[in-house]
Amino acid sequence: MTPGFKAAPERSSYDVVIIGGAIMGSSTAWFLTENPDFNGSVLVLERDPTYEFASTTQTNSCIRQQFSTELNVRISQFAADFVKNLRDRMGGDERVPDLSIQSFGYLYLADTDAFAERLRANQKVQVAAGAATQLLSADEIKAAYPFYNVDDIVLGSINRVDEGYWDGATVFDWWRRQARERGVEYVAAEVVAMTKTADGSRIESVTLASGEVITCGHVVNASGPRAARTAAMAGIDVPVEPRKRYTWIFKAEQPIDQDLPLTIDPSGVHVRENGGGTYLCGGHADIDPGVAHDDFSMDHGLWEAKIWPAIATRIPQFEAVRVQSEWVGHYAMNTFDHNAIAGPHPEIGNFIFLNGFSGHGLQQSPAMGRGTAEWLTYGAYRSLDLTPFHFDRIKAGIPIPEHAVI
Ligand SMILES: Cc1cc2nc3c(=O)[nH]c(=O)nc-3n(C[C@H](O)[C@H](O)[C@H](O)COP(=O)(O)OP(=O)(O)OC[C@H]3O[C@@H](n4cnc5c(N)ncnc54)[C@H](O)[C@@H]3O)c2cc1C
Repeated sequence: MTPGFKAAPERSSYDVVIIGGAIMGSSTAWFLTENPDFNGSVLVLERDPTYEFASTTQTNSCIRQQFSTELNVRISQFAADFVKNLRDRMGGDERVPDLSIQSFGYLYLADTDAFAERLRANQKVQVAAGAATQLLSADEIKAAYPFYNVDDIVLGSINRVDEGYWDGATVFDWWRRQARERGVEYVAAEVVAMTKTADGSRIESVTLASGEVITCGHVVNASGPRAARTAAMAGIDVPVEPRKRYTWIFKAEQPIDQDLPLTIDPSGVHVRENGGGTYLCGGHADIDPGVAHDDFSMDHGLWEAKIWPAIATRIPQFEAVRVQSEWVGHYAMNTFDHNAIAGPHPEIGNFIFLNGFSGHGLQQSPAMGRGTAEWLTYGAYRSLDLTPFHFDRIKAGIPIPEHAVI
């Protein structure tokens, strides 16, 4: 058994059952243990305690404030504060390391007037929320970052404050460690079914693959790309599907002599600093369907056909590079409006969503875990109001689109 995981739950009933023990489930569990008003029992059920295929493992671990939705900017600001004060946030625990954010910034590049307009509109939202986003002309980009080819660029947008790389794996580790130490049970088990009360208004229990039935006060769907499968067990249709996202680490023959911002090329390909003359690059195929939950096969033609030509055109120094490693991960893509889905189901009030984080869930985990723990404790949010992310908007067919999706 993976260390820290039990083979079976110790009890047959818990106040909160969390389905999925990666970063969202663990953040929620930890914030529950932080809350002096919460005295309940918490069970985290994880089908794969190695986390090999969890989005949390496959992530690129970056944070940005360049969103088009104010709430998303504030969510990332809380994450930045949490990360930079990790030890304090974790009760001054001497074992917890000090972390920082490597703030090389995200540089969005627009090659059309329409996209430039979108960047201007986004920047207004971000600055109003306190972000330090700057718009840059092609000449200004070239002056600050001479290695770019900006011939086709109309406008750029960058924020160099609390935007860049952070060590999500360490935060994830400490949330799990402290949550366990404070009594949260992590069990290696897959949830395969749920039962509801006779009137259908509550989830009564979850059934494990072993056949064991666990009754619950609340159930939290923190199942990542499997969110729709978990929701379907409760008869709920949630618009989240796995989408393949590819990552490459490459070494440049001529490394850039300054930090490379996380550059979002108009082609959709992104590339960033990775240290030691290596760079991390991400992208996906132009045809981008939902895929099977266990489909992590590599598209070996993609690098040559799309990714490398895009980055070598943007950064001519990257004509000569050598790929060192590559992997495939799944986004839990919210196909409705690309925003998080949080809070209770409108009719099944003890079924709590924590889903649809697409490519920005790692940085959202502090605020979403905190908010979910507040909802579980008080039936209301006490810090950041997450109600715009509730499922009701999906039922009503009213999206709150997030335009800045990578
Ligand atoms: C390639 C890639 C790059 C990314 N880059 C970034 C980035 O730079 N910044 C950022 O903020 N975000 C990024 N993300 C997104 C971020 O990694 C995810 O949004 C986040 O990790 C989601 O965490 P999660 O806990 O919701 O899901 P996951 O990490 O997928 O965890 C879900 C867990 O639920 C478990 N589970 C599912 N069903 C069941 C069941 N029935 N019973 C028990 N357990 C179950 C799974 O085994 C899994 O461990 C990236 C994602 C990918 C794929």
